[in-house]
Amino acid sequence: MDKEQRLKVAVQKTGRLTDHSLDLLVRCGLKYSRGKDQLLCYGENMPLDVLLVRDDDIPDLVQEDVCDLGIVGRNVVEEKRLGFLARGHAPLFEEMQPLDFGRCRLAIAVPDDLPYRGPRDLNGRRIATTYPHILGRWLATQEIAAEVVVLSGAVEIAPRLGRADLICDLVSTGSTLQANHLREVETVLESQAMLIRTPVPLPPAKDEWLRRLLLRIDGVQQVKESKYIMLHAPRAALGEIRRLLPGSEYPTVIPLEGSADKVAVHAVCRENVFWETLEGLKAAGASAVLVLPVEKMLA
Ligand code: ATP
Ligand code: ZN
Repeated sequence: MDKEQRLKVAVQKTGRLTDHSLDLLVRCGLKYSRGKDQLLCYGENMPLDVLLVRDDDIPDLVQEDVCDLGIVGRNVVEEKRLGFLARGHAPLFEEMQPLDFGRCRLAIAVPDDLPYRGPRDLNGRRIATTYPHILGRWLATQEIAAEVVVLSGAVEIAPRLGRADLICDLVSTGSTLQANHLREVETVLESQAMLIRTPVPLPPAKDEWLRRLLLRIDGVQQVKESKYIMLHAPRAALGEIRRLLPGSEYPTVIPLEGSADKVAVHAVCRENVFWETLEGLKAAGASAVLVLPVEKMLA
């Protein structure tokens, strides 16, 4: 297919989002081969190529229409967006869809020995961050006058180096903060990986592939938690069993050859099925319970 007709997706080259991003595209059906320079993955069975870059460059590549799509953390997208707005430009990328991985939060953390009762205690303090725009907006909404110290990395050691009193940085488990004797006190932004796109209209063939990709991403997200459950149950217990099956509207009920009062129940549960649910089903009279993963689903 003509090069112009291939969707180009920017993905982080090496980092926290890389494996999840590529895995998502593979689950959407993509088979790819990696180019010699290791920068481009060529889609062999779909007109879709992946450009591997630093995550911070992804919004710009989409903005400049070098790539049609990008997968990047909301933290990066939001910081770029506010940066553009601050310079009087409208950002030229659109947020399309949260992707349910890369979850983290931009949080304010203070040294263990610094007392903290609430946002007002931030007044007059120096806060180190690599996210000055997001932090600036949060401080403005809280009506706090603090000094934002912009760093390009190693934010967590800034208080110990005397460069700031406290920090505003990305946190997922909190172990990095703990190791640096910091404690989290405020959440400034909840983040996860996002799909972004160029606002430039795509030619019809590309647009059609984008539509298909979005549907497949939906499908991948739906099956993540979904399970297919099969069990045998006395007819009389059907009401109770339906009530116990998480997130399944209409189970299939099938008669069992040779048994007058027992039936087989099959259902797709759109939530995870936990041991507690299985125990509840058994207590309600279910037997021969099988829970299977769902590989693909098209609503
Ligand atoms: P690059 O070399 O591409 O610039 P990086 O060091 O900026 O890499 P990573 O540390 O790999 O980036 O993080 C990429 C993204 O992963 C972050 O922007 C954020 O959206 C997400 N993320 C999830 N959890 C965390 C975390 N605990 N710390 C930092 N980022 C996290
Ligand atoms: Zn980065």
